[in-house]
Amino acid sequence: MTKTIRWEQDSDGIVVLILDDPSQATNTMNADFQESFAQTVERLEAEKDSITGVVITSAKKAFFAGGDLRDLIRATPEHAEHVTEAATAMNAQLRRLETLGKPVVAAINGAALGGGFEIALATHHRIAADVRGTVVGLPEVTFGLMPGAGGVVRTTRLLGIRSATRNVLLQGQRHGPARAAELGLVDEVVSAVDELLPRAKAWIKADAGAGQPWDAEGYRIPGGSPTDPAFAAHLSSLPANLRKQVKGAPLPAPRAILAAAIEGAQVDFETASRIETRYFVNVVTGQVAKNMTKAFFFDLKRITAGGSRPDGFEKYVPWKVGVLGAGMMGAAIAYVTAKAGIDVVLKDVSPENAEKGKGYAVALERKALSRGQTTQEASDALLARITPTSDPADLAGVDLVIEAVFESPELKQKVFGEIEEVVAPDAVLGSNTSTLPITDLAQGVRRQDDFIGIHFFSPVDKMPLVEIIRGEKTSDATLAKVFDYVLRIGKTPIVVNDSRGFFTSRVIGTFIYEAVAAVGEGVEPASIEQAAAQAGYPAPPLQLMDELTLTLPRKIRLETRAAVEAAGGHWTPHGSEAVLDRMIDEFDRKGRSTGAGFYDYVDGRRTGIWPGLREAFNSGSTRIPLADLRDRMLFAEALETVRCFDEGVLNSVEDANIGSLFGIGFPAWTGGVVQYINQYEGGLAGFVARARELAERYGEHFLPPRSLVEKAGKGEIYE
Ligand code: NAD
Repeated sequence: MTKTIRWEQDSDGIVVLILDDPSQATNTMNADFQESFAQTVERLEAEKDSITGVVITSAKKAFFAGGDLRDLIRATPEHAEHVTEAATAMNAQLRRLETLGKPVVAAINGAALGGGFEIALATHHRIAADVRGTVVGLPEVTFGLMPGAGGVVRTTRLLGIRSATRNVLLQGQRHGPARAAELGLVDEVVSAVDELLPRAKAWIKADAGAGQPWDAEGYRIPGGSPTDPAFAAHLSSLPANLRKQVKGAPLPAPRAILAAAIEGAQVDFETASRIETRYFVNVVTGQVAKNMTKAFFFDLKRITAGGSRPDGFEKYVPWKVGVLGAGMMGAAIAYVTAKAGIDVVLKDVSPENAEKGKGYAVALERKALSRGQTTQEASDALLARITPTSDPADLAGVDLVIEAVFESPELKQKVFGEIEEVVAPDAVLGSNTSTLPITDLAQGVRRQDDFIGIHFFSPVDKMPLVEIIRGEKTSDATLAKVFDYVLRIGKTPIVVNDSRGFFTSRVIGTFIYEAVAAVGEGVEPASIEQAAAQAGYPAPPLQLMDELTLTLPRKIRLETRAAVEAAGGHWTPHGSEAVLDRMIDEFDRKGRSTGAGFYDYVDGRRTGIWPGLREAFNSGSTRIPLADLRDRMLFAEALETVRCFDEGVLNSVEDANIGSLFGIGFPAWTGGVVQYINQYEGGLAGFVARARELAERYGEHFLPPRSLVEKAGKGEIYE
């Protein structure tokens, strides 16, 4: 008996190792496990003669969750030696298990991810139960990490370099049992957890001489090793694909994984293991791994655990959702809601429009069916949940309304007026507006405490974020309901207070306008787009500007400026304003929807940067260091985020980080917009110094707000 692994041996001599850490709900590769595993391997070797085979399974809902992220996030370069020792020891034990000379089977009863799947990979046969929650994979890369317990070495030997990198290592996919079997990651799938042990034992009896394929004489890696001429032809495509994936962003993990896979495939198992460990230690002790683990694991967990949800309200599941406007957003909101098992009434001005909106769901379901991602029955049921209509009376009984008509305050107030008396008396009244202040819109309804912003992102079925906006009068009860609804449809909610552009649109705007301003300064447009890619942004800012349309920011700017000046304030023009004005007025280039913007379009397809830009703005006449261009974008967003905290728009660091990553493409390596400030070299003081430098060169909008300077002075970070 060890601390976390139970040992049971049956009369046939088969040892069942049950992973069962009494100190936590999930098994992880913590210190107790490492000690227990070492003792277990010792015992297996010592009692080998009385053992016919070994089954590894778990007493928890999940099989094994992998490395303990609470430990990994603390590993700094000073811990490199210790991490190396721990990884080397774990690898040695897994190696001893797989070369024990007895058949070893993994009976995968639930999720086996990361280190958990690495244990399974060291067995000779993997059987997965096809039950809710069973997924396998090596998602380390999504946390800025890489597998360090043989995951790279074994998947490349098992599947070949190309399949292992594409299907497992570089994207960190989580595969269900069927797909895992198809890829060769598991060998057998059974339909219930109860069937696992009998199947595992039967396999052991039938395969007494089992070993790892890669330990067999003359084993060749599927697809060949990099030194094989047949493989060499593909070798150059691997780094090329990697470049496509990371686009120049400073992401160490994918690079390290690919290098470990290729280098490891050319040497013996033990050397390959050492290579993997060396890369692993570098990645784990680096800052990017910390940023990403914090964001994509810890921040996300705090949010979904209800960090920004008001306490004291019962869990809410909407009975029936009413969506007003069956355009691009409304149709997709109806789809994701119905997909979560909730009935939807989808209303537009005519039955044809409403039906067309439902057509969006029909098309997506058809695609899902053709890919085997759903069944006919489930698909029919989903579509039956969406009722298209043009009659407000059909919203009778609806308890959550989401309005997604054109972006006009008058129209929005009119459509709320049509349904307010029809829906349930305490129905939530939500608007998907992206720019209109919620408090102002709320003035058009009778029950202002039930009014709230529910801001989805396009394309709704893919984008994971929903920004919930509290108006001045929005009640806690309403907020709690919408929070629950967003989680229910499988999205991540952040909660912000009202402001023009809320948090996300406001912040992404500063990134885009900084790029536009640089065009006006005479910077080469291609360099601007390139600087964004190097900073790690997923989409180039001038392209984004075209998507948004150039007229929208001008409209907002004119309104905001008028409001500022009416209140006696002073308006400092941003460098982007004159550029947008000229693009619209002088060149009639208003963005993608009009077929012309910073880019040219043919039949709606982007063909390249508009050649006329050069002459219009004297492109290339100004050279700005790439590092400055990059920092201007990152700092513009970070500083606007600080202002959002100052104004009370934001209340939580997690909401800011996750909102920036999931909603507006802030570079993943940073761990989010606040983490970017916190982890800046030299801490907040270093950030303040760099902001001042940028302010001197590129304008006073880079001057750090007083709150930031004070925090830096006290040596604090945002928490
Ligand atoms: P859209 O033009 O595609 O759709 C608007 C729909 O509203 C049309 O089908 C129209 O027929 C319908 N409509 C008009 N009057 C109506 C009425 N009286 N009753 C019912 N339906 C009516 O617009 P969209 O892109 O879906 O945007 C809708 C809202 O979502 C806007 O407020 C927009 O700001 C917001 N939004 C858009 C995006 C985006 O990326 N497009 C993202 C977030 C939020």
